[in-house]
Amino acid sequence: MNTIRRRLTVWYAVALGLAMAAFGLVLYLERRQSTFQELDGRLQLEAQFAARWLVESKRVVGRLTDRAPGRPPALDPGVAAYFENVRDALVLADAQGRVLYASAAARELGFEGIEQLVRLGRAAPASSAVGTVTGLRGGDHRWAALPLPRLAPEAAILVVAVDTDEVAFGPAALVQSMLAAAPVIVLAALMLGYLIAGRALGPMVGIVDELEAITDGRSLHRRLAVPMTGDEVSRLAQTLNGMLARLEQSFGTLRRFTADASHELKTPLMVVRAGVERALTDARTPGELVPALDEALGQVNRMSHMVESLLTLARVDEGRAPLAFEPHDLRALVQEAGETAEMLGEPAGIAVTVDVPEAAEVLPVDAERIRQLLMNLVTNAIKYTPAGGRVDLALERREQAVVLAVRDTGIGISPGDVDRIFDRFFRGDQARSRTGDRPGTGLGLAICKWIAEAHGGSITVASRPGKGSAFLVALPRPAPAPGGEA
Ligand code: ADP
Repeated sequence: MNTIRRRLTVWYAVALGLAMAAFGLVLYLERRQSTFQELDGRLQLEAQFAARWLVESKRVVGRLTDRAPGRPPALDPGVAAYFENVRDALVLADAQGRVLYASAAARELGFEGIEQLVRLGRAAPASSAVGTVTGLRGGDHRWAALPLPRLAPEAAILVVAVDTDEVAFGPAALVQSMLAAAPVIVLAALMLGYLIAGRALGPMVGIVDELEAITDGRSLHRRLAVPMTGDEVSRLAQTLNGMLARLEQSFGTLRRFTADASHELKTPLMVVRAGVERALTDARTPGELVPALDEALGQVNRMSHMVESLLTLARVDEGRAPLAFEPHDLRALVQEAGETAEMLGEPAGIAVTVDVPEAAEVLPVDAERIRQLLMNLVTNAIKYTPAGGRVDLALERREQAVVLAVRDTGIGISPGDVDRIFDRFFRGDQARSRTGDRPGTGLGLAICKWIAEAHGGSITVASRPGKGSAFLVALPRPAPAPGGEA
């Protein structure tokens, strides 16, 4: 848990750091760009002012240059005086490219620098031009050139330039302040992230603590407190609660199953033990042992039947009860069950009828399991039908299924029990109270249900107490092959 918190904090800080770096870069580039635009504007304005002064001076004085014989032309000192206050480098040249004037800042660039500025100015187009020149003394310079067509050829080109370091200071200072502030911000982000992650993960810690308190099957009834936030944590708590409920249910079923199984086995064992003990102490002749042995055999048979059923269900639960499906005419299976029913029904005074269709009803089934299912239903029907009653077996063809029906006119099932008769070990009150008459384990219908469902079908019951019951097993018919007979 702690590591998630730490990881979240670090990621948060890293994300913030990256976002800040990107923001800083964009801001720096944008500031730099606009600073250069401002600078260009300033240089051009300066050049225009200077040009206007030159034009005005020419109009008033009539000339601009002071031309002493044998010397190169130079700007008239009266006119040049105005430019002495100009802070930036200013260079004025005539049409042949001869320098007429260079301001104090321009002179600092040296002869080479001035010449280069003049060359740039002469190469510039007719209208004004701007650019950056590298390699000048004192570093990179931004320049603006203005041609002076109205003064040509006496003065032809005006260039104003300024060291870019002077203006780049603004954006650079911005980056510096950001770098200085970055550690503080990242540290604050780490602390804040740690707090936020702690808050977000707090409910999870609570859930883990609550889950840890559920140590065994007895504490499975506990439920986690679901936060009312409706977020992921509350969903997690709900999901875990659902899982706990299912676990509790399966645990309960398992516990009940174990208790029921041991209870059901205990009774016959006690009967056998008492019978054997009695025989050992009371019987004097071997003939007197026979009834006790007979009783013991009956109980042992009952127990082995139950153990067999338990084994089947245990295999089902483990998913180790494979079925072998093979096409089989269900009429044969129903008729077989009918014969058994007749045999069982005759001594009990119960009439049995069997009704199967004329046409074969072939379905892929595990014949052995279907036989077991029919046998369970038939023995139940005979068992729970008093003398004089009837048991009817039928195979009925429906649109999408084939129905195996076992109907009786027996004691019926009370409405409260109908939903539970398929549960393991469930036995109706009447069945329990007369165990001698109607021995059973309460496992038969649970096995029937599994067999029906393993065939993709279902088992249902309709019953009225005192009137009888009808057990219907519907097995789905495979879809007819296209073009084949339905
Ligand atoms: P049992 O071994 O008790 O017959 P089953 O699982 O086969 O166990 O049946 C469960 C219970 O369902 C029975 O105890 C009985 O109460 C009821 N039952 C099953 N079949 C019938 C029937 N044909 N008529 C009335 N009750 C039935």
